[in-house]
This record gives sequence, structure tokens and C-alpha cells, in this order.
Amino acid sequence: MDKVHKNQCVVIIGTGIGGLSVAALLVKSGISVTMFEKASKVGGRTSSMMFRNHILDNGFHIMPFYKKSAIYTVLKKVGIENKLKLSKVKNIEFYSNDNNSNSSISNNFYRYPKGISDIIFGLSMIPFRSRIKLLKILLPLAFTSIKKTERWDTISLTQAIKCLNDNTKSFFDAICMLAFADTPERISLGEFARTIIRANPFRGGTSEFGYPQDGGYDTIAKILAQYIKQTGENNNNNTITTNTGNKILLNCPVTKVTVKDGNVKGVTTFDGRFIETNCVIISYPAYFAINELFEKGVFSEEFKSKVNRLNRTTSVVEVHFALSQRIEKQRQVVFPIGDHFTAKGIFFISNITESVSPRDEYLVLVGTPVSHEDPAKSENIARISELMKKDLQQIYPHFRQSLIWERPMAWQLVESVVKEPGLVWKQKMPHEVSYVKGLFFVGDSTVSYGVGTDSAAHSALLCYPKIMSYLR
Ligand SMILES: Cc1cc2nc3c(=O)[nH]c(=O)nc-3n(C[C@H](O)[C@H](O)[C@H](O)COP(=O)(O)OP(=O)(O)OC[C@H]3O[C@@H](n4cnc5c(N)ncnc54)[C@H](O)[C@@H]3O)c2cc1C
Repeated sequence: MDKVHKNQCVVIIGTGIGGLSVAALLVKSGISVTMFEKASKVGGRTSSMMFRNHILDNGFHIMPFYKKSAIYTVLKKVGIENKLKLSKVKNIEFYSNDNNSNSSISNNFYRYPKGISDIIFGLSMIPFRSRIKLLKILLPLAFTSIKKTERWDTISLTQAIKCLNDNTKSFFDAICMLAFADTPERISLGEFARTIIRANPFRGGTSEFGYPQDGGYDTIAKILAQYIKQTGENNNNNTITTNTGNKILLNCPVTKVTVKDGNVKGVTTFDGRFIETNCVIISYPAYFAINELFEKGVFSEEFKSKVNRLNRTTSVVEVHFALSQRIEKQRQVVFPIGDHFTAKGIFFISNITESVSPRDEYLVLVGTPVSHEDPAKSENIARISELMKKDLQQIYPHFRQSLIWERPMAWQLVESVVKEPGLVWKQKMPHEVSYVKGLFFVGDSTVSYGVGTDSAAHSALLCYPKIMSYLR
């Protein structure tokens, strides 16, 4: 590896998964980083909290693609994957009370298919003929190349599934809720295909999900932050000798990035301090950053409007319920099928790991995608929450009598870009802009595939070599 200038310190704005991932990769290569975070803790949107002795995440946070995910790859690359103990999320089922469903079994639960043979033999929710139709759509997607999926980035998933019957379509509703926290009409066929490829065990993928065994998705952020802070000066590989101690400064928002003659010069913090640097990495939604942090004229108006079109996020309402008894014995996730259910996903977090709740209490989270305006109106959240309770009572008759408390949360910013046709993968914010040297962007709004933490980490994996090449 080439030498990097001595005492060079990279400034990273934001300590979400994107910022922490790129910081860890740089630190591993011996680069010093200083991270500025406006919140009082690391983790960004993955931050968890304690509430009445339960560990609550921001909504349902799980790791798509389990140990094949980009975030797990980052942990492996820096050699700290053994610090993260993961529980598998694999007990997933559909629930349907639709009498038309093709099952002679009285029980209304149906297995969530983990692979092709599961679709043919296990997906009893839909008629055999529909399963064949479904396979005809899924197989070409699952065995194509990631490169080829780019052809479908501007096509919507609904277009590809319009020939299917309602029950088969509900299979897609559930996959989209699980993989994208969204509904099929908002999903790009290209992004859907990449998800199917990465879930295909014949292509080295997995359809399993992971969640930290000790509870709290921000465990991952904490592990990364600890690695960054603890990794210090000494590099044994005699290649890069720059690391002079890394810092993570909390409650310290950056208010300005200074650019002169097309080169980054430094950043200013909320208290007026100027920190000189020739390398700044922005790791929060790029369409906010380019409007908030730069003087006029740094970016062209055309570029700004191109980036601003990414500001169309997924919104969800999610309600945590604490229960005095386990109303569901083994399933970890249940997808109620059909328009009459408001609850689109029921997540039995205590069935994934008991460590999220005190003894004899059980945590359940119920979620549904909503319109962008809903999270801003408390009356809408209350109404949605009531409808969810009705659904739970219908599926689990012991629900109401077990309820200890409930805590609704509404989110406008699940991913900082929709997975919509025309706004995925390479159509997102680029990692660098040729006319501003030393400025980089990572995070889920920047070029990467996958969604959520997976895309934030993937963007860091893609951007890291570009930063290294600049620093050399
Ligand atoms: C309810 C909900 C459920 C989700 N479920 C899942 C899931 O199941 N699986 C999954 O993979 N993903 C999920 N996600 C998405 C996932 O959380 C995000 O995609 C991911 O965490 C984004 O990481 P990031 O680093 O790009 O940005 P962020 O996490 O947003 O990090 C940006 C950081 O920058 C800081 N910041 C902003 N401005 C400044 C400034 N001026 N100065 C200093 N600091 C600043 C912010 O405080 C923040 O900490 C979910 C998100 C939500 C909200």
C-alpha cells in the first residue's frame, strides 16, 4: 500500500452506519479520522433507546442478507465480526383469513418461502398454477447478473407482476414489506431483482436476516465506534504511518464545509471552530447536506435539483406493544395478507432475542407503510395505531388482555431515498463530484445497492477506495 501524507486527518460528518463504516475502513488502513455528530450518541437512524426497561429500536431494524450483508462485510474487513453476536430472523410466516386461499388446513398461517423448492411445495397460500407463474417471474430474476438488473432500474415491480392474481400479489406485498418497508408500486424492478439474487443460495446469497443477540440494532454502531476510537497510532504493516488517534465528537454539528478553488479547505462547527482538512466525508442524506453546508456556487443549480429529486423517502408508522404473555409462541415475523389489515408486518422481537425485554414481558412491533404526510399528524398516527390493535386482536385473541403499554412512532425517513424506478443504485447521489477535490459522500442516499443499513455500508465499501486514491 502507498504512503499517505503524515498527520493527514479526514473529517467525517455523521456517525450513522455509512459514516462509521467508512471511518472503520480508513482507520484499518492507518488513516486518522475525526467524526462530528450532531446527536448525543452514535448510530444515526439505527440508534436504540431504553423505554420501561425494554430496548426499543427505531421501528423494526434487522440486517438483510445476514452474514452476506454489506455491513457484515465491513465488520469482516476490519476484523471485528466476532464482536457481533447475531440472532437469525428466519421464522417468518404469512397470515391470511381469506376463505379463497387454497389450503385445506384450518390454520391461517403459511410458510414464507426461503427458496425455489419452498415456492413450489410450501407456498400453499396460492394455487399450484399461480406458483408456477410466480416462478416464471422469479427464476429469471434470481439467476441474472447484477449488471443486467440495471436494465430494469427504471421499471416498476408492479408492471412485472400485473398478470398475477391477488393472492400471489400479496406474496410480493410481504416481500416488499420485509425487504424494503414499502409497497410494490414504489419498488424498482431492478432493485427487487438484486434483492432476489442476493437472497438466492445458489448464487452464494441468503434470505435470512440477523438481529443483535443482546438487543438494540445500534450494537453494530457501538462496535464500529469502539473500534474506531481504540485503533490508535501503531500500524505494524509499515505502510501507512498517519494514525494519530481518532475522535468521535458528539453533540457537535458541522455547520459549514469550506471549499476554495475547487478544493476542500475545512469545516466549521456549531460553536464557530474551524477545523482545517483537505478531506471531508459527508455521511448524512446528501440532498440535505448540499443545501445546508455549502456556500452558493459550489454546486450548480442543475446538479442540486438532480440530487434534490432523491428527497422522496419511505414513511412508516410503527407501534411497540409490551405484553404480559407470549401471544405468539415461535414465529418471529408475521405478515397479515389482504387490504383489510392495516398491520402489514408483526414483529415478535422477544421471539428473536429475549434480551430486549425484562423477564415475563414481551415486545411486539407492528408496522405499516404510510403516505409521506401521515407521520406529521398525530391524529393519523393514533387512528393507524387503533386499527393495528384491532388486527392484532383478530389474529391473537389474547392480545388486549395482555397489553401492558404501547408506544407509537412515526418515521418519514426510513431510507433517505426511495427505491422507486429511476432512483436506485447508480442513479443516487455520486460519491464524489469531479470539480470539488477532497469531498466525498456516503450513506443510503448515495450510489449503492440494497436498502437501509445494507446500502449505507455498501456505499462506504464503494467509496473507500476512491478516498484512499485521493489521499495517496
Ligand atoms: C423506522 C426505521 C426502520 C428501519 N428499518 C431498517 C431495517 O430493518 N434494516 C435496515 O437495514 N435499515 C433499516 N432502516 C434504515 C436505516 O436505519 C438507514 O438506512 C441507515 O441507518 C442510514 O445510515 P446513514 O449512515 O446513511 O445515515 P444516518 O443513520 O441518518 O446517519 C447520519 C448521521 O449524521 C448526523 N448528522 C446530520 N447532520 C449533521 C451535521 N450537520 N453535523 C454532524 N452530524 C450530522 C445525524 O445525526 C446522524 O447520526 C430503518 C430506518 C428507520 C427510520
